[in-house]
Amino acid sequence: MKALVKAEPAIGLEMQHIPVPEIGPDDVLIRINKTGICGTDIHIWNWDEWAQRTVPVPLVTGHEFAGEIVEIGRRVEDLHVGQRCSGEGHLIGHHSRQSRAGKFHLDPETKGVGVNVPGAFAEYLCLPAFNVVPLPDDIPDDIGAILDPLGNAVHTALSFDLVGEDVLITGAGPIGIMAAAIARHVGARHVAITDINPARLALATQVADVRPVNVMEEDLKDVMAAFGMTQGFDIGLEMSGNQTALDQMVESLTMGGRIALLGIPPGKSPVDWSRIVFKAITIKGVYGREIFETWYKMIAMLQNGLDVSNVITHRFNVDDFVQGFETMRGGASGKVVLDWT
Ligand code: NAD
Ligand code: ZN
Repeated sequence: MKALVKAEPAIGLEMQHIPVPEIGPDDVLIRINKTGICGTDIHIWNWDEWAQRTVPVPLVTGHEFAGEIVEIGRRVEDLHVGQRCSGEGHLIGHHSRQSRAGKFHLDPETKGVGVNVPGAFAEYLCLPAFNVVPLPDDIPDDIGAILDPLGNAVHTALSFDLVGEDVLITGAGPIGIMAAAIARHVGARHVAITDINPARLALATQVADVRPVNVMEEDLKDVMAAFGMTQGFDIGLEMSGNQTALDQMVESLTMGGRIALLGIPPGKSPVDWSRIVFKAITIKGVYGREIFETWYKMIAMLQNGLDVSNVITHRFNVDDFVQGFETMRGGASGKVVLDWT
C-alpha cells in the first residue's frame, strides 16, 4: 500500500509502498478515504525538537482520517465490514487509575496514532475497535477527516457553560475558528477571535458569525467597548499557544472569568500570576478529546446544524501531498484534506 512515511530523521515525508498492516483480534482494518493535515504533522514534517524527541523513525504519520472498515478482528462484535468511520487517534491503556475510572482521555499511557505508532497517512490503517467512531450517513468523509481537530475545539469550547456568555478566542487557526462556530452554535452572546494573520481572520468570518480582531491593528478594549461590555469577556479559549495572546486574554477577562487552554506554547512562558489571582480566574488545561463524550457531542452538533465545512480550504490528491504540506506550512490556509481514493 501507499503510505506517507517519516523515513529519515530529517525534514519532509516520503511516499513509500509498504505492506498492509496485519490486525489483531481486537482491531479493525480501515481503508482510508480522506485525511486531514494537522499542525502536529507539520511539526513532524519540519522535524523540530519536539518531533525528534517523540517520533520513532521510520513511522507512517497522520492521525486525522475517515474511511471504511474492510476487515474485523475475531473478537470484534459491534462493528462490521463496510461501515464508514473515523476514530480516536489516542490509543489508551486500561491499567491506569484514570482509565479504570473511565477518564480515558487522561490516561498517562496514551500513545498517538501517527506520532508514536503507525498512522493514517496510508491506504490502510489498523486501529483498535475500541477507537473506532462510526460515521452517520449525513457526515461526509471530508468532515470525518477533520473530526480530530473539531474534537479539540469541542472539548475546549464545552469546558465551560457558554450560554449567554461573552467569549474571547485567541488564535484563528483551524481549531480556534471551529471553536468560534461551536460557541455560536451553543448560544454564546458575543464571540470575538484574535489573530495577527488577516487571511486567518477573514476565514474565521466565513465559518462563524464572529468578530475578527487583528491585534496588530486593533485594541481589544475598543472591541469590548463596541460590544457594550463594561467588565470584559466571561470565557477565554486560548488557541494560539502565543504568550502575548494569553496576556491579552487575561487582561480582557472579567473578574471570575474562566480560561480553557488548548494552545501549546513553544517553551516555558512567563505568566502574570498576580493578575490571575486578583481577577480570580480559573484556568483549565485541555488535552485531546474526551473519549468518547466529545465525539458524541460533536456528531450530535454536526447533525443539528453546526457547519464547519468552510474551514476546509484546500483539497489535494495524496500524490500531490508535497503541495498539501506546503499549503499548510504557508499559514494562510484552513484545513487541508488529502484524498486517498
Ligand atoms: P495554528 O497554528 O494553525 O493556529 C494558531 C493561530 O494563532 C495562527 O493563526 C497564528 O497566526 C495565531 N497567532 C499567533 N500569534 C498570535 C497572537 N499574538 N494573537 C492571536 N493569535 C495569534 O494551530 P491550530 O491547528 O488551530 O491549533 C491551535 C493550537 O492548539 C496550537 O497551539 C496547537 O499546537 C494546539 N493543539 C493542542 C492540542 C491539545 O491536545 N492540547 C491538540 C491540537 C492542537
Ligand atoms: Zn490533529
